[in-house]
Amino acid sequence: MPKPIPLCDIDTAAFSFQEALERLLEATDSVEEAEKIAVSDAVGRFLSRDVITGIDFPAFRNSAMDGYALRAEDALPGAILSVVGVSSAGHPFRGDLHRGEAVRVLTGASVPEEADVVIVQERTRLLKNRVELTMLGPPPVGDNIRDQGEELKVGQLLLPKHEQVTAQNIGLLASAGLSHVEVFRKLKVAFASTGDELKAAGAHLERGDIFESNRTVLGALLHAIGVESFDLGIFPDDRDLIRGKIQAASQWADVIITSGGASVGDADFVVDVLRELGHITFWKVAIKPGKPFVLGQVGSAKFIGLPGNPVSMVVTFLQLVRPSLLKMSGFQRWKPFRLKAVSLDQIKKVPGRLEFQRGIYEIREGALEVTSLSAQGSHRLTSISRANCFIVLPETCSSIASGELVFIEPFEAFGL
Ligand code: AMP
Ligand code: MG
Repeated sequence: MPKPIPLCDIDTAAFSFQEALERLLEATDSVEEAEKIAVSDAVGRFLSRDVITGIDFPAFRNSAMDGYALRAEDALPGAILSVVGVSSAGHPFRGDLHRGEAVRVLTGASVPEEADVVIVQERTRLLKNRVELTMLGPPPVGDNIRDQGEELKVGQLLLPKHEQVTAQNIGLLASAGLSHVEVFRKLKVAFASTGDELKAAGAHLERGDIFESNRTVLGALLHAIGVESFDLGIFPDDRDLIRGKIQAASQWADVIITSGGASVGDADFVVDVLRELGHITFWKVAIKPGKPFVLGQVGSAKFIGLPGNPVSMVVTFLQLVRPSLLKMSGFQRWKPFRLKAVSLDQIKKVPGRLEFQRGIYEIREGALEVTSLSAQGSHRLTSISRANCFIVLPETCSSIASGELVFIEPFEAFGL
């Protein structure tokens, strides 16, 4: 018999995705403690205070080109000047520059104080120890000279608090001569999976057992955002044991994450334990996959219970947990990264839950196209390992026709 197709999929007890995300972000703030570390170790970390420059950028007036530095009043077409010295990188010209004289300068080298233009080499002709200027007209004063402090002056902001240190901006810190910077300490995240059926690699599988994969995946996801992670192992479905482990971890971890056991089955103890040890902020989110998601607090630790289904776990981690862990680590400018793409397929959906379907996008002549993977089951790890993006389908939307525009989130945007 064909399965009946539901017309709608609404659970009034579930939080909308947007509400859940807002709760996660408002329930978290950056860690307070900071540490001083070597600039070379700081890539990926978040600055815990503004960084001010102690030197001008550039630190001295220098030449933008290879050429000849001279006084503007001598910079006339056809003029012939005596070359009285050389200023190269690291070896400034130390003499005086008089009328009728020029100093050979190389890119980045100090420009003599009396010079106010640099004539590029291509507009000159060298005649033994004299140089003839061959440009067509007089250059503007300051031509090809970079002024001291024209980019940044002593005391100006180099990088603001909360900025992430990256390969693009670490050069600013190094150029300012800084050896160390202050960054927020790393977040301590304890994680575990729950389930009697879960066995570690190498174990013998009895009927009904499966090899555990969520912890390995969680470890990789946590590594990608640079937190300090602690693998607590596999918890069997035992209420007292889970309670004890979570209570112990809440003494030292900033965040505790478990996978599995957060649904409503007979062996799902995570939500009960959370009620006993602390409180629940919300439970269940109207997304697909990933509905059985719980956020709460145990002592000073945030508690996050993820669904056990491997794909649901990845989706909820990337969509909800990652932004909040980044915020706790010190990042304040998180935003979803969504692009419009043409759907090459018809995509089935019923209204009610926001869906993160797995798709493959391609860039064709600069435009984005996406195909949806046909097998979307939340237990199918192949659906996420073959995909390169999420296709984000809003709660209210129903099926999408081929050729319609949809929002996608490339996995690259998650640093994966
Ligand atoms: P649960 O949320 O505990 O009901 O688990 C939902 C499904 O995900 C079940 O089929 C579990 O066997 C599976 N599952 C739970 N945890 C893991 C895990 N750590 N690795 C692989 N599969 C898991
Ligand atoms: Mg389970």
